[in-house]
Amino acid sequence: MPELYGWEVGIQATSEGISVSIDPAFLIWTYLPENGMTFGNVILAHAPLRENGYRNLLLAHEFTHVKQFQSLGVWIYLVSPFLNIEGGDHELGGWIGLQECTTTTWEPPDEWPALWHFLTLSF
Ligand SMILES: [Zn+2]
Repeated sequence: MPELYGWEVGIQATSEGISVSIDPAFLIWTYLPENGMTFGNVILAHAPLRENGYRNLLLAHEFTHVKQFQSLGVWIYLVSPFLNIEGGDHELGGWIGLQECTTTTWEPPDEWPALWHFLTLSF
């Protein structure tokens, strides 16, 4: 059952109208052979880590991927060799690497325009 990990609402007013963007982040605990994987607004996290001490590090890392996807859209797959999307190795068991990658993973600057939203309503 998906959990709502977090969400953001953005409002943009222009001379042409108002648009409201809604970006929930869904979390699903799975048994995939990865610590975590993120596709758009959906985070798949390795279920045995649910009660693990690194849970918050893992989820913070995966939530960074949600932010990356909002900023880059599907271009994330093309630019990933050029940006530090993963921030290092964080395979199962590589928890020290995960701790390192949360500080080096590419994050979009605040002024970076979002290319993708889960839902946009325009008035
Ligand atoms: Zn990652």
